[in-house]
Amino acid sequence: MDRANIVIIGGGVVGCAIARAVSQRWDDVFLLDQMPKLGMVTSSRNSGVIHSGLYYTPGSLKARHCLAGNRLTYEFCAAHNVPHRRTGKLVVTTTPEEAELTHLAERGRANGLEGLRIVDRAAIRAREPHIEGRAALEVPSTGIVASEELVKAYARVAAEQGANILTHARVVRLEPQKDSIQVWIRTGNAAGPTSDASVESVDARCVVNAAGLFADEVAAMLGNTNYRIYPVRGEYCEVTRAKSYLINGLVYPLPHPEGLSLGLHFTKTLWGTVLVGPTARYVADKTDYERDRLPVEEFVRRAKPMLPEIEASDLTLAYSGLRPKLVPPPDPARDKPGVKRIADFVITRDPSVPRAIQLIGIDSPGLTAAPSIAQHVSQLVAQTLG
Ligand SMILES: Cc1cc2nc3c(=O)[nH]c(=O)nc-3n(C[C@H](O)[C@H](O)[C@H](O)COP(=O)(O)OP(=O)(O)OC[C@H]3O[C@@H](n4cnc5c(N)ncnc54)[C@H](O)[C@@H]3O)c2cc1C
Repeated sequence: MDRANIVIIGGGVVGCAIARAVSQRWDDVFLLDQMPKLGMVTSSRNSGVIHSGLYYTPGSLKARHCLAGNRLTYEFCAAHNVPHRRTGKLVVTTTPEEAELTHLAERGRANGLEGLRIVDRAAIRAREPHIEGRAALEVPSTGIVASEELVKAYARVAAEQGANILTHARVVRLEPQKDSIQVWIRTGNAAGPTSDASVESVDARCVVNAAGLFADEVAAMLGNTNYRIYPVRGEYCEVTRAKSYLINGLVYPLPHPEGLSLGLHFTKTLWGTVLVGPTARYVADKTDYERDRLPVEEFVRRAKPMLPEIEASDLTLAYSGLRPKLVPPPDPARDKPGVKRIADFVITRDPSVPRAIQLIGIDSPGLTAAPSIAQHVSQLVAQTLG
């Protein structure tokens, strides 16, 4: 490995979807991930929801790639036997105030969603007999997917098309050259004894930074220090098997008023279990999944308005994930409460090193948007390689 057309840094869902898209068209594609397996970070620590595109600002990259990604994800899953289900979802309000639901529906329609409908309490009960709600927005195009299987399937197709996939391969330095970027890679078990690891380099005509939580650090290797990623932890609980009858599908509250998350929701998984979460909290460290976890009682407190029958004895703590946010934590001295804290995806050729394509702040709905982001990146690669 001394020359490559394209090196993709990061083998999460986005890097794997990009590897699949670009290996349809170019040879000598390399996908590198520092972990022992692909998709071990954010791409397997999420809700596994195929989002519809309801929430995002019309015209934003999130809106565009979520809507297209929704269709492309269903098509890909069907063609490659990835477990998934088009469940639809309910966004429920527990107060008499329906204006928020109407506003969400209008935004969804502006984004091109079809089949949105506001339904009453009786319709909620017919679908979810244990959910308490005054009204709800029905969103038919939402679904669920086995996210780890999705990552593996994108990577499998990329490999079949000739992409070279390396795990235990950590990019440690990037050096722009006249017509390429030299990529320095630590291979082998970097976490183990140093004797297990070695450093080698490859000259790439194009580099794609799909490093998720660490994309700001990879961008900085090229001298681009404009970005900073703040990890926002989302924690989950699982409902005990005996109480999994409490939820039939996907039930969401109205989204977090500041846009930090879509709110603590209920997900019946493909395996019949029920997840409650995720929460949203800034943490200091990009690897801090477990320190100071919220107790189950806190999940009960937040879940009860929608699911009054839930008790602490029905819940056990489950996994957590970290969202790569571009928006810093609120500063009480400067930021007014309630101000939206949403940033769009950044997908761009680097202004100073145009052979590098930067993907920064790919938080939710990145799992859904991945195949559409991959098409976008493929166009940027074409501009780069000519
Ligand atoms: C709690 C939570 C819930 C979510 N729910 C949903 C949902 O229901 N639906 C949805 O659409 N989206 C959801 N998301 C968002 C979605 O999971 C992410 O947008 C998506 O997984 C991002 O994928 P990625 O490939 O960009 O990042 P990652 O999965 O983080 O992959 C990046 C990869 O880069 C590798 N890497 C980093 N630095 C280096 C380096 N120097 N060298 C080599 N490799 C490196 C890492 O090991 C990692 O594997 C959720 C996210 C969270 C946290």
